[in-house]
Amino acid sequence: MRQKIVAGNWKMNKTMAEAQALAAELVGMVSSEVNTNTSVVLCVPFPYLPVIKYQLGKSSIKVGAQNCSEHEWGAYTGEVSALMLKSMEIPYVILGHSERRQYFGEDGKLLAKKIDKALTATLTPIFCCGEPLEVREAGNHEKLVKQQVEEALFHLSDADLKKIVIAYEPVWAIGTGKTATAQQAQEMHAVIRKQLASKYGEAAAQEISILYGGSVNAKNAHELFSCADVDGGLVGGASLKSREFVDVIKVMK
Ligand code: PEP
Repeated sequence: MRQKIVAGNWKMNKTMAEAQALAAELVGMVSSEVNTNTSVVLCVPFPYLPVIKYQLGKSSIKVGAQNCSEHEWGAYTGEVSALMLKSMEIPYVILGHSERRQYFGEDGKLLAKKIDKALTATLTPIFCCGEPLEVREAGNHEKLVKQQVEEALFHLSDADLKKIVIAYEPVWAIGTGKTATAQQAQEMHAVIRKQLASKYGEAAAQEISILYGGSVNAKNAHELFSCADVDGGLVGGASLKSREFVDVIKVMK
């Protein structure tokens, strides 16, 4: 059975004190209100990782990073390597978020290297893919997303593919308040799963968790997460408020 996951992406938000306050609220609320096998992950800014990890302690919530370098070690000022994350026992890392693609020029070739570094360090990559509005309007969304998946993941062995989590995040739905309909989400998730099946076989494709991301909130989560091929969500804005995020998590049964 595929792992259900709800991951919060805090992006570049919150002071240290605010981040600690939010983590403390989430620990309390998740332990008292949430009763599910869903993995809950908080992807927080790099400098907060050890503190938030320590704070989460024995709670069921896991911590993740929002990026890592394509390099292992060395003279790369300002970068953070997957092995550094591993040395802090950080289990998850988001890779290929559309904001990294858009503002930092990350492309499929680079992301393939980052995926490799994350896997070598035994991190679980949450690999993001998704189309901008103009691509959807032109009817080329399936083609683009399949290309993103192929470029970043199709060099992986069967064994390594199983270690990946995919997040389908239509760019036009990220931070805009405009969410994909459940039908649009399901269609694209099924396309991705079919693509994985064509390369890695049906059994492998059925094991990969595919999350939906893009303006998920407590009101729309139920419909989106009920889709057959949607295994949870990558949540930005709504993960910054404890009540809203816990209500999203509680949708998972
Ligand atoms: C995200 O950051 O991955 C995201 C989906 O953001 P939001 O939920 O705010 O659209």
